[in-house]
Amino acid sequence: MNSEELFRMAQDVLPGGVSSPVRRFEPYPFFAAGGRGCVLESVDGVEYIDYCLAYGPLILGHAHPEVVEAVTRQIRRGTAYGVPSEGEVELAGMIIDRVPCAEMVRFMNSGTEATMAAVRLARAFTGRDKIVKFEGSYHGAHDYVLVKPGSGAAAAPDSPGIPGATVSNTLTAPFNDEEAMVELMEEMGPEIACIMVEPVMGNVGCIEPMNGYLQFLRDITMENDILLIFDEVITGFRVAAGGAQEYYGVEPDLVTLGKIAGGGFPMGVLAGKREIMENIAPAGPVYQAGTFNGNPVSVAAGIRTLQLLDEDLYHGLERMGSYMRGGLRDILSDLDLNYQVAGLASMFQVYFTGEEVTDYRTARTSDTELFMRYFHSLLDGGVFIPPSQFECCFISAAHEMEHADRTLEAVEAALRECQGH
Ligand SMILES: *Cc1c(COP(=O)(O)O)cnc(C)c1O
Repeated sequence: MNSEELFRMAQDVLPGGVSSPVRRFEPYPFFAAGGRGCVLESVDGVEYIDYCLAYGPLILGHAHPEVVEAVTRQIRRGTAYGVPSEGEVELAGMIIDRVPCAEMVRFMNSGTEATMAAVRLARAFTGRDKIVKFEGSYHGAHDYVLVKPGSGAAAAPDSPGIPGATVSNTLTAPFNDEEAMVELMEEMGPEIACIMVEPVMGNVGCIEPMNGYLQFLRDITMENDILLIFDEVITGFRVAAGGAQEYYGVEPDLVTLGKIAGGGFPMGVLAGKREIMENIAPAGPVYQAGTFNGNPVSVAAGIRTLQLLDEDLYHGLERMGSYMRGGLRDILSDLDLNYQVAGLASMFQVYFTGEEVTDYRTARTSDTELFMRYFHSLLDGGVFIPPSQFECCFISAAHEMEHADRTLEAVEAALRECQGH
């Protein structure tokens, strides 16, 4: 069956024909037949160079042979135990070695669960109810954080079905705006349990913190006895081995991880300072539990993936990222287009706006219709990027120069086409 037929059937049995909203695009998404390396193949027999990479986890590309082997070996020995297994201790140790703030680790199954647990833990630890998140930041799909969210919800913020009382304690602030945060702290500081931040905003495209902004958040949270939580579900193991906290040299109290940490399998991680983490049940009173927590298959994939992420690999990703961003800037300047190229390490995005993008408000000045024309032209040219201006493109270790050059050619053609040049 081809994608069109499958989508028609899917619409009957899956709301919107998909299992997660951002996957839907017009007229219908292609259905995956398989992936290998940096290539995703559709059931229609078309191959795409993949910069979506399952929205972040696949830093080694699809079906890396060594990850597949580690997982296969584990599956033969069982897929869930309900008792602890050695891999959990090993993976926890690897995370603690790399991620500066991590002294203890709780494994879960998704980034959503990790941020939910982080908020509960911060509230319990501080005895305060209010939390602060940033406009356009995305921390998963649970009630506490679906206020002015990013990602698939960026176009239609908030959601029905969330009691007002649940989010009355969720405050929002603009990213990269010190003054606004100082004001919020003056007004509410003593009631705030935590500030949760994506150190690089990865769910409204890709927005870096301004020079000194993360350190500013560190200082102002310390002054107000507030926990600083970095949501590194995207940036963890992506921008550096130790994530954004290593890259920018600012250490939070807690960190949430996911995506790459599971090596392509479901995973969520809450980690942080021992003094705080020891409050989690059964060591302490803050409840968190899960049938599949520390799942041995996800853990095996995570271990093998982290083992393969060495310094050389990060250098290679950095080089490829710079090459891509440089190539994009050259094309835009050749075509006399005043759009923004954003990104760092192996992350990038083009914003279809003339304004410099530093937060949610400026990101939303982008021409999203033009972006979708660009997306479709790229798709026709054999390149798959996430189908939204408000997502980020990722590069994997399987992307080679030849793929980058083919991609830049497709980008140039796409930009000419969607500009009507
Ligand atoms: C993807 C993402 C999440 C949610 O993770 P899931 O595994 O999809 O639940 C949370 N925070 C950030 C920053 C993310 O990008």
